[in-house]
Amino acid sequence: MKEAKKDIDMETIVSLAKRRGFVFQGSEIYGGLAGTFDYGPYGVALKNNLKSLWWRMFVDSLDNMYGVDAAILMNPKIWEASGHVDGFSDPLIECTECKHRFRDDQVQKKTKKGTEESDTSVSVWSCEHCGTENESVEPRQFNMMFKTHAGASEDDAATVYLRPETAAGIFMNYKNIIDSVHPKLPFGIAQIGKAFRNEISPRDFIFRLRELEQMEIEYFVRPEEWEMAFENWRVRLNQYADAIGIESSSLHELEVLPEDRAHYSKRTIDFEFDFPFGRKELWGLAYRTDFDLLAHEKGSGVELKYFDESKKEKITPHVIEPSLGIDRTILAVLFSAYREDITGDTPRVYLAFPPAIAPVKAMVSPLLKNKPELVEKARNVYLELKKDIPQIMWDDNGNIGKRYRRQDEIGTPFCITIDFDTLGETSELKDTVTVRDRDTGDQKRMAISELLEYIKTAL
Ligand code: ATP
Repeated sequence: MKEAKKDIDMETIVSLAKRRGFVFQGSEIYGGLAGTFDYGPYGVALKNNLKSLWWRMFVDSLDNMYGVDAAILMNPKIWEASGHVDGFSDPLIECTECKHRFRDDQVQKKTKKGTEESDTSVSVWSCEHCGTENESVEPRQFNMMFKTHAGASEDDAATVYLRPETAAGIFMNYKNIIDSVHPKLPFGIAQIGKAFRNEISPRDFIFRLRELEQMEIEYFVRPEEWEMAFENWRVRLNQYADAIGIESSSLHELEVLPEDRAHYSKRTIDFEFDFPFGRKELWGLAYRTDFDLLAHEKGSGVELKYFDESKKEKITPHVIEPSLGIDRTILAVLFSAYREDITGDTPRVYLAFPPAIAPVKAMVSPLLKNKPELVEKARNVYLELKKDIPQIMWDDNGNIGKRYRRQDEIGTPFCITIDFDTLGETSELKDTVTVRDRDTGDQKRMAISELLEYIKTAL
């Protein structure tokens, strides 16, 4: 087998994602809606696996971690207190010719030498839509929160926002968690859910969306313990990257400079990934101090202190926030898993997902679909495995080679084939099947009774 790994471009991933039912353009038959994508059968399975692995690693496997599922619509005063109404904005500029709008920090600026009449040089940028060269101007701030109205009246008093991050829903439940489950510090609250950002120019497939999904944790600590907690979460995010197949060589920790950090943050690390369109933020890890609890205490008038029993004192905990976008994670996982090689003379494409996140763990098929005895035996194997491992798939379409190709492209680690030997034509092979390995293409024979354990060990 000859490995032919190459630089993968965005087009390759977008077309594989569509062809194999991972990701489709949102509202496609109506021409789409910018910044929205829909996940198909294998995309949603991959997404669910990424979420449940995150939940298992960061909620179920750790002490003192609590999940919530807060409402997306929240009292608008929350967004005033958190600073989003005034400050959750991006710098907007507009092309003078075609009026297309862009984010000021996303256009390439260059310096143009002055003319004879005026020899001062000016900064310019080219409109990527119509090509017009525009002079740089002071951008205007554009608030990215989507507004809607709650109830029958559309006046300002009824304005509510679609949450631009899931974190606020966590802060809203900090007191509920303390009052209902009485956690000891340090403790964390986790949430997975949708967030909405009216991005000026959504782009790069599922990288910059207007409707996105996040996995966030607010981890509450005593103020003097923030550094240790920050370091622990830094390590854990690397462990998660490793578990989902993102190589450490394509993940980079960027220590965000004080002047570039959000005003409330005393330390931020951006986890950046090498996408084909550049090294860009995949996840964030921020030390948010006591900013949010103090802001919501002031905004709501409700005390948000924590009584530390061991020290007999009331404190405002400080917060470490690991924040992961699921859509960006899926994109990074697709790039990380993509492989091309040549088996025999035939080139093939496969996704080398770690089995734990593969949308389908194993495919079961009869060698020939027009032999009822093969089909019946294969159906039995399939149904037995599916009882324990739900993400098992049946496939009897086309010839066996085509089935393998299809499974390679959706990243199925194992393909199980029931052939005439399984039925006992040669007695010592009775009740054995072939198991094909996705990454090597090698096949081995195995007893049906060993299959379940074999697949489970890999997960
Ligand atoms: P960027 O600088 O790229 O706009 P951000 O710093 O605003 O991102 P955060 O507010 O830190 O992002 O959001 C936390 C995480 O949510 C990001 O690390 C990313 O994974 C995800 N995310 C943020 N905005 C988007 C978006 N528009 N589309 C998809 N995922 C997003």
